[in-house]
Amino acid sequence: LDIYGEQRINSKGFNLGDMQTVDELLNQVKAENTLKHHATSLIPGTEAMGDLIEVHSPANLDHAVGSYHRAQAADVELALSNAQAAFPNWRDTHVGAKAESLLKLADLMEQNSHTLIYLLQNEAGKTLGDCVAELREAVDFCRYYADQAQALCGHGEKMPGPTGESNFLYHQGKGVFVCISPWNFPLAIYAGQIVAALVTGNCVIAKPAEQTSLIAHFTAQLIHQAGIPKAVFQLVLGSGSQIGTQLCQNNAIAGVVFTGSTQTAQIINLNLANRKNASIATLIAETGGQNCMIADSSCLPEQLVKDVINSAFFSAGQRCSALRVLFIQDDVADKVIHMLKGAMDELITGNPQLFSTDLGPVIDEKALAILNNHKAHMEQTAKPIKSLAKPELKGHYFAPQAVEINGIEVLQQEIFGPFLHVIRFKANELDKVIDAINATGYGLTTGIHSRIDDTIEHVVSKIQAGNCYINRNMTGAVVGVQPFGGMGLSGTGPKAGGPGYLRQFLTEKTITNNI
Ligand code: GLU
Repeated sequence: LDIYGEQRINSKGFNLGDMQTVDELLNQVKAENTLKHHATSLIPGTEAMGDLIEVHSPANLDHAVGSYHRAQAADVELALSNAQAAFPNWRDTHVGAKAESLLKLADLMEQNSHTLIYLLQNEAGKTLGDCVAELREAVDFCRYYADQAQALCGHGEKMPGPTGESNFLYHQGKGVFVCISPWNFPLAIYAGQIVAALVTGNCVIAKPAEQTSLIAHFTAQLIHQAGIPKAVFQLVLGSGSQIGTQLCQNNAIAGVVFTGSTQTAQIINLNLANRKNASIATLIAETGGQNCMIADSSCLPEQLVKDVINSAFFSAGQRCSALRVLFIQDDVADKVIHMLKGAMDELITGNPQLFSTDLGPVIDEKALAILNNHKAHMEQTAKPIKSLAKPELKGHYFAPQAVEINGIEVLQQEIFGPFLHVIRFKANELDKVIDAINATGYGLTTGIHSRIDDTIEHVVSKIQAGNCYINRNMTGAVVGVQPFGGMGLSGTGPKAGGPGYLRQFLTEKTITNNI
């Protein structure tokens, strides 16, 4: 099932267990509708039965998907001591055994694809295409990091030295990692962070976004089923401001992997730094962006419009890689905007369970309110291009919008949804455009549409962005193919799904032996 015809790195390809056709898959996903999921934290020694929270689908508020219990402060303390006690054994377990568990997890995800897809659709509101792509990404992370870890940790690296002396460099886990993952990739980013930390010999306490607690819990059970000991990987459910803060203030933490807002990453950094007598912790943060695409007069308008629609509106704009601002050279602007309006008219916002749907709901009421406020503000200050009407459905729906603005400075924050801003520029203003984009301080993704090699090279060399996409869409980085992550306000690096990622989870040990 390869809806987008995407290139994938895992040699086995993606297999959906016994299901041969999309119909079979859809029937199995549908059969899940009658089940109610119930989630708790997974911490050996406690039931962790704090407040009970009901989960309703963002696509249909009448659909009760299940419920979960929040953990309490004492549960979090227990998780921390469990993890510390389990660390030395796990660190010293051979990397081959750890990698084996990741491969098993990849297989388990494929075998349970119907439940995972059901939860992605009903808890996160994702379309079928996005669910399948996310599942494949999660599987890819497991297989890719399993390979990488064995290459990195399987043996010591022989270093040069004088005769009679041997020098070897070894890698080992750092300690207890907290993995704080977002609701927009509740399977792929959640699992990617966790398996990277585990396979390098760290114990993990996962604190997933509350909005997607059920899928986190279901996947956590698969992680244990794949052979990861229960104290080595623990799940803690609850709010970021309480539980996340408690975890990041604790001296037992060796590192935090975080995907979410820049502001939260800065708070985590501060909490880690303020710990007294604690070791200096690693922070791996992938944060927000103000992602731009630059299209000059040599662009192919049909291709540009297709890539703009895909990058700005698909996944309901809820990717941190999504396009927010299109800079279009004024010579072709009218033509492109005309085509964009037509293309937007074809977009269907609605029930993510239907094949015809292009974009589902946004995640929750709060996200919807921010988008509605921004829309109201743009109605006062910007020139309208196209405003689609939201569907009459009982969910958190926000239909695609496009407006023309005068400069990127008017956008004070990242607008996380299907909202495109268009800015015209003149042929001699390319450097001004690049400077304005760099001045935002963000640097996640950038798109370039041009048929002029010098222009492409110039933009690529000057723009400060982690991922540059030329003459294509600018989302959907593939594991092992397009290492993903930003710079500046957009993140610390290293890039997820890239050859440098696992090194940040490891500490190095040099052994010198004067034989
Ligand atoms: N890796 C995803 C992409 O390339 C985005 C991840 C995110 O939204 O955090 O589209």
